[in-house]
Amino acid sequence: MTEIGQALARELGADRVAEDAATLAAHRTDYWILAHLRARQGRLAGGPACVVRPRSAAEVATVVRTAQRLGVAVVPYGAGSGVVGGATPPDRALVIDLSAMNALLEVHDIALYARAQAGLLGGAYEAAVQARGYTSGHYPQSIDRSTVGGWVATRAAGQFSTRYGNIEDLCLALEAVLPSGEIVRTASVPRASAGPNIREVFLGSEGTLGVITEVTLRLHPLPERRELASFAFASFADALEAMRRIVRVGWRPAVLRLYDAAEAARNFSAHAPADACLLLVVSEGPATLVGAELAACEAMATAGGGLPAGPAPVAHWLEHRNVVPSWDFFLEREMVADTIEVAVTWDRLGALYTAVTTALSSVDGMLIASGHSSHCYPQGANIYFSFVLKPAEFAAAEKLYVEAWSRALRATLANGGTISHHHGIGRLRASWLAEELGSAYPVLLALKRALDPAGLMNPGALIP
Ligand SMILES: Cc1cc2nc3c(=O)[nH]c(=O)nc-3n(C[C@H](O)[C@H](O)[C@H](O)COP(=O)(O)OP(=O)(O)OC[C@H]3O[C@@H](n4cnc5c(N)ncnc54)[C@H](O)[C@@H]3O)c2cc1C
Repeated sequence: MTEIGQALARELGADRVAEDAATLAAHRTDYWILAHLRARQGRLAGGPACVVRPRSAAEVATVVRTAQRLGVAVVPYGAGSGVVGGATPPDRALVIDLSAMNALLEVHDIALYARAQAGLLGGAYEAAVQARGYTSGHYPQSIDRSTVGGWVATRAAGQFSTRYGNIEDLCLALEAVLPSGEIVRTASVPRASAGPNIREVFLGSEGTLGVITEVTLRLHPLPERRELASFAFASFADALEAMRRIVRVGWRPAVLRLYDAAEAARNFSAHAPADACLLLVVSEGPATLVGAELAACEAMATAGGGLPAGPAPVAHWLEHRNVVPSWDFFLEREMVADTIEVAVTWDRLGALYTAVTTALSSVDGMLIASGHSSHCYPQGANIYFSFVLKPAEFAAAEKLYVEAWSRALRATLANGGTISHHHGIGRLRASWLAEELGSAYPVLLALKRALDPAGLMNPGALIP
């Protein structure tokens, strides 16, 4: 056993520490396709030396202090569903697997919030609060394979965000263990004007500023009514304009989701007109609001050139929305696939969509470059691009993958967009963060130096 493994076994008990080959292999990557590609090609270097499964914040604090004393890098690991390499650990790292911290701690009926340990899986959390008559309103596609702590650590977004908000809107408070081993808690109050909100430091920190051990999330009563509608548009730009008009005046349908013609054909050929872009609408909440909201969406979508396509495409999406092919499906066929989610203001959205799809299509071996918009705001929206490439020589797959990302992010920045809407930075996008943050980047570096002077918290993620 490693020195850190022995020390942790003494502190926490031998059953909390694992260094067997199967456990280390299970924590060697997250869901980043490049790590899977490298593993398949026998080129995945490094990997963790030890995995520890603490049961409480106090145990996490002990683990972090021990790692600091021995100078070992630490990687918090939720459920490993991150797609940007944030939980693909560097060589000889200590992985803190939070899966044993999976308790729902409190459901507060009057103040409408729930507290949970950070390692609770999203699907289990949602089922538990639904049994009490509530919803979190947070439905990432990965809900069954990601943790509530991982949501906060990555600044995640759920499919119903237009009504309920993203995780930064839903996270009321949290508890975290600092790199020093101190435990900090923020208060569960509806709002405060008490200096900068310390909770924000950990939202999107990706394991680099501490370990989140508990989260408090806002709840919503289960909706009284849900209605579905969809509209086919001849042009992507016209459909974006209809979305902009809907949110601009204050409507917040839970889902406003627009597929370009390629993705509509791929996903909805049995349910919607051919050669059209498809806008899906889900409205839910109090019955009177839903009735009015759906009527307003219909009026604005049809005024903008949309043809009603009925509820069937939306019902189809709701049923299949969390089904995704595994990376193995592509890699076995010597193809590489990935998704790139970016966001920009409405005035630049059409240009950004065209620039990124063009940039992706220019990469050698690109088979598919398409996009949909899944999250929108009064100021703008995201575009979630998908690409599949098949290199002439599979050995060149990594080079072309990096090229695809690089061209897409370059086009995004050139069009005034953010390089990530919700998947985060991880190791994949770390070298782009300075450009994204610009003059604010030194503030992040100062924060990192102040909280983690030895640089042991998830080195290489977020900050290169
Ligand atoms: C099929 C699929 C669909 C997805 N759909 C969505 C989606 O709809 N919306 C979305 O936002 N994302 C989505 N993702 C991405 C991913 O699920 C999210 O980033 C998720 O929030 C990660 O949670 P996790 O618990 O799996 O974290 P991990 O992958 O284990 O870790 C992610 C990062 O957070 C850090 N971290 C994890 N837990 C903690 C903690 N307790 N304290 C400190 N740091 C921590 C890790 O060190 C790492 O840097 C999807 C991924 C897949 C594979």
